[in-house]
Amino acid sequence: MAYQVLARKWRPRRFADLVGQTHVVGALLNALKQGRLHHAYLLTGTRGVGKTTIARILAKSLNCENPNDGEPCGECSACLQIDSGRFVDLFEIDAASNTGIDNMREVLENAQYVPTSGQYKIYIIDEVHMLSKSAFNAMLKTLEEPPEHVKFILATTDPHKVPITVLSRCLQFVLRNLTVEQVSGHLRHVLESENIDFEDDALQLLGRAAAGSMRDALSLLDQSIALSSGSVSADSVRQMLGVVDRHYLFDLLNHIADQNREALWQTLTELTSRSIGFDTVLNELAVLLQELAVQQILPQADAESDVLALAQKLSSEEIQLYYQCVIHGKKDMPFAPDEYSGFLMTILRMLSFAPLAAHEISADDTVEGTELQDPKS
Ligand SMILES: [Zn+2]
Repeated sequence: MAYQVLARKWRPRRFADLVGQTHVVGALLNALKQGRLHHAYLLTGTRGVGKTTIARILAKSLNCENPNDGEPCGECSACLQIDSGRFVDLFEIDAASNTGIDNMREVLENAQYVPTSGQYKIYIIDEVHMLSKSAFNAMLKTLEEPPEHVKFILATTDPHKVPITVLSRCLQFVLRNLTVEQVSGHLRHVLESENIDFEDDALQLLGRAAAGSMRDALSLLDQSIALSSGSVSADSVRQMLGVVDRHYLFDLLNHIADQNREALWQTLTELTSRSIGFDTVLNELAVLLQELAVQQILPQADAESDVLALAQKLSSEEIQLYYQCVIHGKKDMPFAPDEYSGFLMTILRMLSFAPLAAHEISADDTVEGTELQDPKS
């Protein structure tokens, strides 16, 4: 059998299989169970968070011959045909590639006729904001007086570009970016089901790199499986993503806190000899600093020993200051002469500001110029 990419193989076919988006799924299932159906839905959210997946499951639920509490059965002819993309009453339009009025008009002119085999004619329009103005007008005509048998499921990454006349006729759902835990948890489930060995740290790295998109996470996982020899290790994922080994991050922070210029320079030199992205090093530094800040207010005894040590060594002011430097460094990166210069200047900025934060001001200290004037003097 030909290899099927994970994102396709693991595309959820029922609402229960979806990761995250419980607020959307719950509302849709309730509406389906109670038969309170809207004629147009608008799903918004960034790429790869499940918009088209939810649209297709909803299309199945609406046309399923034996729905179970709103879930499609997955076995009737409507479910099977929708899963295989052969259902005659489901029209999937990608507005990013089909923006012409001709196409929309042609498709929508047929909306008035009753469905051929299912209960509803369903129009899934992806990236609906990319429709031309005239195409929007053609759709609006049907939206204004929708026939009973027509349902629109619109999806967009950019709802601000959807005309208000369309927005006001849709029931809108905002899909959220998936958390690192949701993504890595799902990757774990996929790998266990596929009988592929992995390291936990690798899943965390992939989860972060996916930046909230499950589709991106699964395609990164595909790549790392292809690169690995039987097991998805943290090292191979780090290499693939151009992510630095964490011990370098600990070294950097320790040397900055100790004001040890020689050792810091040594670490920087070692870093330049590795093929890593310096913007991702800043990203990883920000993640580590956030971990340290959390460790300080909510100590976890089972934290990494390096995390424990640094959380004790650095003051909360230092952590906040370094975090600020890193975030600013990331923002300034596009203006730097090159990536390494941007990274280097950020590290040097942390080094020169470190003594300021390390010199903590205790509650009893008077800060110069703020003393209360003695009225008698
Ligand atoms: Zn069914």
